[in-house]
Amino acid sequence: MPLINNLPEHWDDNVDLISIGSGIGGLSAAIAAHDHGATVLVLERSPQVGGVTALSQGQVWIPGNHHARDLGIEDSAESGFRYLKRLSMGYGEDEAISNFTANARVALKYFEDKAGLRMNVIRGCPDYYYGLTNDSVAEGRLLEVEPFPGPSLGEEWQAKTRLSPQVPYSLTTQDIADKGGLAAMMHWDFALMGERIAKDERCAGSGLAAYFVKAVLDRGLRMETGVNVTGLIGDGRRVIGVRATKDGREICIKANKGVVVAVSSYERNRSLEKTLGNQLDPESMLFSTIDGANIRLAGPFGAKIARVPEISMAGFSVPGEETDEGLAVWRSAMPIIGLPHHIVVNRQGKRFGNEGFYRGFYYTTDLIDGVTQTHPNFPCWIVIDSQAREKYAFVSIMPGQDWPEGFGVVADSIEELAQKAGMDPQGLAETVARFNANAEKGVDPDFGRGEQPWAAWMTGDKTYKPNPNLGPIVKPPFYAVELSRMGRPASPPPASRSTATPMWSAGTKNRSRASTPRAIRPRGWKPARSCRAASPTRAA
Ligand SMILES: Cc1cc2nc3c(=O)[nH]c(=O)nc-3n(C[C@H](O)[C@H](O)[C@H](O)COP(=O)(O)OP(=O)(O)OC[C@H]3O[C@@H](n4cnc5c(N)ncnc54)[C@H](O)[C@@H]3O)c2cc1C
Repeated sequence: MPLINNLPEHWDDNVDLISIGSGIGGLSAAIAAHDHGATVLVLERSPQVGGVTALSQGQVWIPGNHHARDLGIEDSAESGFRYLKRLSMGYGEDEAISNFTANARVALKYFEDKAGLRMNVIRGCPDYYYGLTNDSVAEGRLLEVEPFPGPSLGEEWQAKTRLSPQVPYSLTTQDIADKGGLAAMMHWDFALMGERIAKDERCAGSGLAAYFVKAVLDRGLRMETGVNVTGLIGDGRRVIGVRATKDGREICIKANKGVVVAVSSYERNRSLEKTLGNQLDPESMLFSTIDGANIRLAGPFGAKIARVPEISMAGFSVPGEETDEGLAVWRSAMPIIGLPHHIVVNRQGKRFGNEGFYRGFYYTTDLIDGVTQTHPNFPCWIVIDSQAREKYAFVSIMPGQDWPEGFGVVADSIEELAQKAGMDPQGLAETVARFNANAEKGVDPDFGRGEQPWAAWMTGDKTYKPNPNLGPIVKPPFYAVELSRMGRPASPPPASRSTATPMWSAGTKNRSRASTPRAIRPRGWKPARSCRAASPTRAA
């Protein structure tokens, strides 16, 4: 099939490779292409570089990596392959899985050796599905960056490199884990946080993105912000450039060797969220440029769209919290709903899943009851008691801090809470009574909460006995906060055509996103190894 021929009358610029997007996908491609002799241009639509990568937790999942080996942890890329293949339940493709598992560790070594990246194993952090298969590991595959010195970017790019409003980027996951984890926010090392903030030392995803920005700057590569790529240009056989708007005018840039489409996902595009993601009106943690450019750019050139079963997230927005774009800050509920003294219930007042393990839980929020044509588990509410308020942060609301006015509902009894929130009071009272009786024993016969090692490590309170994920809801006043659906903060796997001048759509998805619902799939896909494997993967 001939490709689109939409050649412009003239070219405004000319390079070998254009990376569209300045997250880890676009930047790693630019760095690798430069190191292989190409002239490179990175085009970023928003005023800041770093992409969603800079918002993220920055945990990179790499089986068989050399850091684990140096620690004496037994693992291999082959074992990682078997693990992902098992988890992908037949939806994954061997070629894609092996491309990732074989090359991720090579890319890690490359960027450490050549581009100044510094990563370490997050000690003690198991695979999501540790215990489910022999190919899962108790630790070793999840890595994170060492703190990155922000001032080394120079004044202009230090300010232009994105920071996360959601993630506490002045601590590493290891720092947090060593002080008791997400649950133990009151015990975190705030002096260290203050020191790092004063020195602008960046950890997590903000640090990860900054390492790649620095490597681009050190190479003297061109990187432009405020450039919106609106279309790809083809000559009937190959993709040979891009159309973009810059300072209000259209420009056309020739790409002699290739275009990498690394623009993330479509989470800020409600129409695509509905039609491709099956999500109704989701809120988002992301900034506004993550709106489906992958589909708009690659689609007309024949990139195939694959839909793979995936989950939505859920979260809430605390009144008064705003991003620098003036948008409400949406916060994932994931870090808190698996803590003791927390449950999530539907309008019947019933729990409907294992709140401590979001990979399982969020499938149940989108469940459709075909008999009643309803979502039985949506809307839903987090319900907590005052023990939870005293011990744990409600993401950004600290223990001891006043509960924001107009946020959720507060009541002195469970029945009153249900009435105020719009749930069935008797249903909620029964649920809480049953949950409490079992929580005292440290068990959840209904949904197995507290049984996954990953959940105990990440979403539980390690100091809480007998089970880090289970504690009764008994102490008034009680609180309920309605959850909203939130999009998936990730991007699709690659798309390309096997043309002489290739076009790649990079993505992470990781994050387990080894299986993604929003994938553009290539025809005759042969991704460039160095460009691909560099993308991080969320814990798998
Ligand atoms: C809170 C949070 C936590 C996360 N934690 C993890 C984690 O621990 N591990 C993990 O693996 N993943 C995690 N993720 C997901 C991960 O961050 C993303 O999957 C990944 O960063 C995407 O990288 P990318 O390079 O593909 O895209 P991005 O980093 O999003 O970069 C894409 C860039 O393209 C730009 N762009 C879009 N359209 C255009 C256009 N038309 N022209 C020019 N530029 C354009 C965007 O502005 C953006 O800067 C997390 C996400 C969030 C939100």
